[in-house]
Amino acid sequence: MRFECQPGCTKCCEQQGFVYLTEADIVRLADHLNLTTPDFEARYVFRTKNQRRLRVPRHANCEFLESGGCRVHLAKPTQCRTFPYWPELLDSRQAWHKAGKGCPGIGKGELIQIELANRAAEEMRTAHPFLYR
Ligand code: SF4
Ligand code: SF4
Repeated sequence: MRFECQPGCTKCCEQQGFVYLTEADIVRLADHLNLTTPDFEARYVFRTKNQRRLRVPRHANCEFLESGGCRVHLAKPTQCRTFPYWPELLDSRQAWHKAGKGCPGIGKGELIQIELANRAAEEMRTAHPFLYR
C-alpha cells in the first residue's frame, strides 16, 4: 500500500459526507479560530445525543474548505487528519483501491509504514466508536 498526499489537492474535502468531531477536536478548533468553545459550537457544530459533527449540509462542501486548502489545517479534525488510514480502508484491499478513485494520493509515493497507519486507524476507531460497531 502506498500513499502520498498530493500538493494542492482538496478532493477528500470536496466529497459528500459528514465530518465528525471529538470533544478535543472542538476545543482545538475553537482555540485555533480564536473563538470560545461555546461560540465555536454555536457556529459550526451539530450535536446529537451520541455524535458531534460540523454543521454542514450533506450536499455542501466543508465550511473550512477554501481555494488555498483547509482553513484549519493545523487543527483539523481527527477524521480529516487520519484519512486515508481509516480502519475500513486499511482492513480491505478493495475499499483501499476504491478510495483511490477519490484520492489521487492513494497508490503514490512510498510504501506506507503500517505501524503509523494502524495507529491512525486506532485513533479514528477510538474517536468515533459509533462508526465501527
Ligand atoms: S484526496 Fe488524497 S491526495 Fe487529495 S488532499 Fe485528500 S488525502 Fe491528500
Ligand atoms: S476540516 Fe479541513 S480537512 Fe476537514 S473536510 Fe474541512 S476543509 Fe477538509
